[in-house]
Amino acid sequence: MVVTRFAPSPTGYLHIGGLRTALFSYLWARKNGGKFVLRIEDTDKARNSDEATQAILKAFEWLGLEADGEITYQSKRDDIYAKYIQQLLDEGKAYRCYMSKEELEQLRETQMANKERAKYDGRYRDFDGTPPEGVKPVIRIKAPLSGEIVVHDGVKGDVIFQAEDILDDFIIARADGSPTYNFVVAIDDALMGINEVIRGDDHLSNTPKQIVVYEALGFDIPKFYHVPMIHNSQGKKLSKRDGATDVMAYKEMGYLPEALLNFLVRLGWSHGDQEIFSMSEMMELFDPKDINKSASIYNTEKLDWLNAHYIKNTPNDKLVELLSEFGVVLTSHDKKEILLDALKERAKTLKELAGMVEEIVTTPSEYDAKALKKAMKEGWVEILNNFGAKLTNTEPHLPSEYHAIMEEVVNEMEIGFGKIGMPLRVALLGKMGGPNIDTIMAVLGKEETLLRIAQAIAKNK
Ligand code: GLU
Repeated sequence: MVVTRFAPSPTGYLHIGGLRTALFSYLWARKNGGKFVLRIEDTDKARNSDEATQAILKAFEWLGLEADGEITYQSKRDDIYAKYIQQLLDEGKAYRCYMSKEELEQLRETQMANKERAKYDGRYRDFDGTPPEGVKPVIRIKAPLSGEIVVHDGVKGDVIFQAEDILDDFIIARADGSPTYNFVVAIDDALMGINEVIRGDDHLSNTPKQIVVYEALGFDIPKFYHVPMIHNSQGKKLSKRDGATDVMAYKEMGYLPEALLNFLVRLGWSHGDQEIFSMSEMMELFDPKDINKSASIYNTEKLDWLNAHYIKNTPNDKLVELLSEFGVVLTSHDKKEILLDALKERAKTLKELAGMVEEIVTTPSEYDAKALKKAMKEGWVEILNNFGAKLTNTEPHLPSEYHAIMEEVVNEMEIGFGKIGMPLRVALLGKMGGPNIDTIMAVLGKEETLLRIAQAIAKNK
């Protein structure tokens, strides 16, 4: 059974890069009928916060990504790590190192002066003398001194590391007994039965160390997929300004979870030239072997395009519910269907859609000067009055019925359509733009339309 995981460090919010590897891991587990588990890597007490953990969980909930089983918190597993540290000590695979900070510092300086790689020199590796007094030891693992460590990576192929160049006997427990990062990651992945690790390639350099731990403890090494980073349009690492921001900020900006997930799945993975993927298609088609080898480019226009697609395809009741989060309450608006049908074709985000709705349902308090100049030409008051009179005597409901009244006016007064369309638009909305004028009137209804016409005439004639 395929078991994947997402293992965020709660030092900040869930960001887009983290979410993408989470999504890949989630999809791969689902596709295989396997398990996707969540592990919170909260061992760095100084930098972790409960708030960040909650924010990550909230983002998962918003996106509908469900993890299997209980969430594992590294901070609650000290006993487990201690047991394995003891095991390695007992087996002679790890040892206590009494080197003081000053000695280590000195060694570093000498190595740097000699243009050598800064590296622990193994001076306590085979030590069996009397330990110096007053030094609390750290515990180091015996790493191979030579030979190769090969990461069989599902994206990058075999990545070969020379033990001599990259490893030293790295610390697995600090002087206060607390275990270190690569040690606990390897133990947790092994004990949680994770057999496929999908993560950012910024972790590739950690992998040989983790392999050392797996081997020392006799654990099976999982399959690794190191996913290339997301870059901005300049080919640089994605920054906050480019969108590497809190995933929940996308919710506030009015993106739909399905659009964001669809956007992310295509960042670094492809299936032919298909762009639109429903969740079930993603689950069916995703395969980490198709992850691109090079960095992917974050493109906001693409995200907007996808979001527009999903907004258009969201049922109106659902939109009503979503818009309420943007302060627009349409629950009891009797023309909400017509309104949303007209507007959802045009909005790139829910926020934008909310703005469009607001613009229509709110009676204008001001009129755009440029629009007035352009639309309120000679005779406009008479034209709108004529329209108003005809409207008073009819009971239109549908956009086409409003349109018919406009046509009557046009024919009767022998004017072009723009002569009524433009002033009517500005009278109703206070400016140019917006959807079809017939639709706007059908949404406003007869009374409100008449009221706005009267107000526009009173204020602007
Ligand atoms: N906790 C690590 C991070 O948030 C991820 C560890 C891993 O995926 O192995 O970057």
